Amino acid sequence: MQTQTLSGEQIAAWLERAAEVLEREKALLTELDAAIGDSDHGVNMARGFAAVRDRLGRLDRGDVGALLREVGMTLLSTVGGASGPLYGTLFRDAGQRVAGAAALDLPALAGCLEAGLEGVRRRGKASPGDKTMVDALVPAVDALKAALSAPGAADGAALRDALGRAADAARAGAEATVPLIARKGRASYLGERSAGHQDPGATSCWLLLRSLAATAGA
Ligand code: ADP
Ligand code: MG
Repeated sequence: MQTQTLSGEQIAAWLERAAEVLEREKALLTELDAAIGDSDHGVNMARGFAAVRDRLGRLDRGDVGALLREVGMTLLSTVGGASGPLYGTLFRDAGQRVAGAAALDLPALAGCLEAGLEGVRRRGKASPGDKTMVDALVPAVDALKAALSAPGAADGAALRDALGRAADAARAGAEATVPLIARKGRASYLGERSAGHQDPGATSCWLLLRSLAATAGA
């Protein structure tokens, strides 16, 4: 059976879908940010991915690394807030890791998301449990890495199944931020009052990974 990969065309399809999803879920992200931030996360993410969608037609889909780096640059210049530089770094570093690749197989995808997570952690200095997007990304990366060593990792359905599990892990990670006290970003100004609310950035990470899994057919 052929090992499944994600092509540049599929990555572009994911980004289109992500722009739609973030526009549709703008109110949810805004509501979450209203509780522990400044109510702009939904608008920030919808704006950034609308800009990505607008640029997609002009981007080279033959090099997934270059495509992801361009997404990072677009997010850096359009999203604003704390999440703009963080998501910008995530996509830029993910793209850097797979520079020149025409398509991503499961090991490449796991390496790519891990590089993105490392970039976010280097830039934002957040650890797991600080109630940030890191809390959704870490379990997602772990799920992809676990899939690499699972029996059947080279099967045709392995990539799709791994992405489904990564998205589910990101969702669980985002939900697990509810009781946490924020230690990074704007929400940390609230101290203990930040507990009882789900982190907006962890939630947008989950939405992005769910969109990716859906693009892969999960
Ligand atoms: P801002 O907080 O500037 O208004 P957004 O509302 O767009 O920016 O994004 C807030 C999200 O950014 C938070 O929910 C959190 O997930 C993420 N975030 C903030 N600071 C950090 C950080 N230092 N490291 C990782 N993620 C962070
Ligand atoms: Mg905000």
